[in-house]
Amino acid sequence: MFIPRYDGSEKIIIFSGAGLDILSGLSTFRGKDSIWEKYNKDIVCNDKTWKKNFCVMHEFYNILRNQIKSSKCNEYHYIIKKLNDKYKDTLINITTNISDFFDRLKIPTMYVHGKITKMECTACGNKFEIKYKNWDCEKDRCPNCNSIKGVKPDIVFFNGYAWLYTYMRRAFEYLQNPNSKLIVIGSSSIVIDIDGIAKFANCETFLVDKNNRKGYNNYCSNPKELEILLKNKGIL
Ligand SMILES: [Zn+2]
Repeated sequence: MFIPRYDGSEKIIIFSGAGLDILSGLSTFRGKDSIWEKYNKDIVCNDKTWKKNFCVMHEFYNILRNQIKSSKCNEYHYIIKKLNDKYKDTLINITTNISDFFDRLKIPTMYVHGKITKMECTACGNKFEIKYKNWDCEKDRCPNCNSIKGVKPDIVFFNGYAWLYTYMRRAFEYLQNPNSKLIVIGSSSIVIDIDGIAKFANCETFLVDKNNRKGYNNYCSNPKELEILLKNKGIL
């Protein structure tokens, strides 16, 4: 998703994290019972070691991809869908989630950490959709250059380069317009300091999470409350 430099116009920016997918039955990556408690991220999600742990790494993402395949969009996704249909180009949907729920609802989305249904070939630079296919680490190849060992999920691993952050930062510049809105759903603010961004925004901000945090104008903790809040504010 290309984001032009701030031109003074207003935008509705939605920023979501793993908390949004909990209602679809997916685990979060941090905290109690989270994915990084069960799997070692240095084995399955590290840009410096994935080639060494090639098949284990692919197995992990096959499991995750299957979980996502059998999960459904939840009420948050449908609220964002309504906002997207209403505001179209005025809305920028940014997520750190790697699930493909927004694609299923045809919501243009900036997947800043990549997406599990897409692969990247590090040998030739090719990126390609595989949907919910189980990747066979011994047989499957890049359709462009035939590489086996160069292929990984198109996901930003630890120590990897998150190239979409440039556009994400540009998107946040639009929060200088007092008529813009920032809606943060299910993000812990650990990897990307969204709380700090909300604090310095020049517009109305919304936090949707299980616990309230400082620095936002509005807070609610579930989709029902969010829908009511957005309707009361004349946004939805
Ligand atoms: Zn290739």
